[in-house]
Amino acid sequence: MSFIAQRVGYFDSSDFRDAVKKQSELADPIDLSIGIPEELTPEHVKAAGIRAIQEDKTTYTPANGLLELRQALAEKLKNENGINCSASNVTIVPGLTTGQLLVYLAVLDPGDEVIVFDPYYPPYPHLASMVGAEVIYVSTLPTFQPDIAAIEASITNKTKLIVINTPNNPSGAVYSEADLRKIAAIAEANNILLISDEIYEHFVYDGKHFSIGSVYPNTITMNGFSKEHAMTGWRVGYVTGPQEIIDAINELQQYVVMSSSSIAQHAALAALQHKPADNLVHKYQAKRDLIVRGLGEAGYQIHGAQGAFYAFVKAPHNMTDIEFVERATEQGLVVVPGRAFSKLHGYFRISYGADKQTLERGLEVIKKITQRPV
Ligand code: PLP
Repeated sequence: MSFIAQRVGYFDSSDFRDAVKKQSELADPIDLSIGIPEELTPEHVKAAGIRAIQEDKTTYTPANGLLELRQALAEKLKNENGINCSASNVTIVPGLTTGQLLVYLAVLDPGDEVIVFDPYYPPYPHLASMVGAEVIYVSTLPTFQPDIAAIEASITNKTKLIVINTPNNPSGAVYSEADLRKIAAIAEANNILLISDEIYEHFVYDGKHFSIGSVYPNTITMNGFSKEHAMTGWRVGYVTGPQEIIDAINELQQYVVMSSSSIAQHAALAALQHKPADNLVHKYQAKRDLIVRGLGEAGYQIHGAQGAFYAFVKAPHNMTDIEFVERATEQGLVVVPGRAFSKLHGYFRISYGADKQTLERGLEVIKKITQRPV
């Protein structure tokens, strides 16, 4: 008998393990799979991390994080996002993904229902299942915009939480303020909590980012330094929301995390002192345009791709996602099979975090596969 707990089964990726194994064996892959920006951590951020080490700021911090960082984040959340908060209801977590689990542990009981839009960032449904909640999927096809009527229809008296992610991974969709206000109204009418993952808030090319937490106080807003500040490996994120939920998360943090890295928190404070450069957005917009134009020329109809750095694309010739990914791998291209993000099995995800030359090489391969089916 296996020693492994049943909950690990919620992360089962066996139906695309073989495809991923073949990808990992490529000697010189054209990698459009990973959600990492091509930039390196800025020098001033690295310097602040190094300084923290040299000045022996290397012990535990309070479980909810450094006060200076929480104060700076509360200011940012008030000024940039219109969210009414203070240092006491901001908590630092070792990355948004861990924060997601902590929020679930703090608010979900077994049997509670969580609404997740499909396609989704994989931890949303899998972590919810792991803590015993019931995941209700609401499709956002074909446009990847939230389907307000379907959301309303999926609410029951067990619905506790709706998870929102705009700009979205994997579709790149950016939700409109009007739709977000409608979701807030539904949540309010039904006494439902919202989670809003805003990690791509500055990667917006069409439309405008709107923080739903600015109009609905029962929103748990989550964000982090991974993408905008190119700090994926530093592991620092933050959560704000109703004080009692933040207090519960902090209780949990004392047992699960102790504290996020002191070094990473000092580096994050330095990152916050520089606003994201406009040219970063322009650079990513140019890469988005390149991808959307290239895919359009190859005959694909692209929805979403208004923000973040992803496109979720329907595989050609009725191929399944695995068939497409295998064809791509044969030509050295690595993309992610859509089933990692969706109940659907006919899509693949491209990341344009990679540099322009890699994107151009990847587009060539996609065009070739599209022209010559198996
Ligand atoms: N949220 C979304 C929507 C993401 O796409 C990702 C990374 O791909 C994360 C969160 C990860 O955030 P962190 O690095 O802070 O755990």
